[in-house]
Amino acid sequence: MSAHIQDNSALVLFSGGQDSATCLAWALDRFAHVETIGFSYGQRHIVELECRERLSSGIKAMKPEWARKLGDAHTLDIPTLGEISDTALTRDVAIEMGEGGLPNTFVPGRNLVFLTFAAALAYRRGIANIVGGMCETDFSGYPDCRDETIRALNSALNLGMDKTFELHTPLMWRSKAQTWKLAEELGGRTLIDLIVEQSHTCYLGERGSRHDWGYGCGECPACSLRAKGWAEFQATKESVR
Ligand code: ZN
Repeated sequence: MSAHIQDNSALVLFSGGQDSATCLAWALDRFAHVETIGFSYGQRHIVELECRERLSSGIKAMKPEWARKLGDAHTLDIPTLGEISDTALTRDVAIEMGEGGLPNTFVPGRNLVFLTFAAALAYRRGIANIVGGMCETDFSGYPDCRDETIRALNSALNLGMDKTFELHTPLMWRSKAQTWKLAEELGGRTLIDLIVEQSHTCYLGERGSRHDWGYGCGECPACSLRAKGWAEFQATKESVR
């Protein structure tokens, strides 16, 4: 028997990166009960999963209300995705542009699989809202990050599970700089510092040296996007001073 679906609870796709940490704060700000789900799929940057605990404890320490709301952290092992994906995220090959304008960091079907597993878990946990950091503003052109894809999948999940899930993508129309801004609105300087210090973005899984935007190789597309967003975010702060 499936649990009753609750409108005020949410399941956040939480990878340990900047975007998903911001999504977690966004969900804690708006829903009464929040759980997280992360995936181990053979990614080279598995270190991101280890960041989750430090981020969660930091987020809990920020506001008693958030600590009260934050429930179970789930991790699902789906090595099959890595086994069938010949990409720079799952193999030790250089990151480069592939055919059709997509970088070889694209893992075909990744977000479709993640969201489907998330919905299956949400079904069992009685959770109606699923939150993901997909974004088609400052992105690498991944077709499964597009708003249209997410909306189509939302319909398919609701039909296929006979539920009324709502997929939320609060970052969809935000630039990376605006994502930093959102984090600041939600948790002030404390949340910004926590994300800089503890979240992981680098595709190569390198913690590397500490830049002003956090840790990473500083060269890969994920690091470049993060660095660029941070610089823009800092520039807007300078201009209002
Ligand atoms: Zn990097």
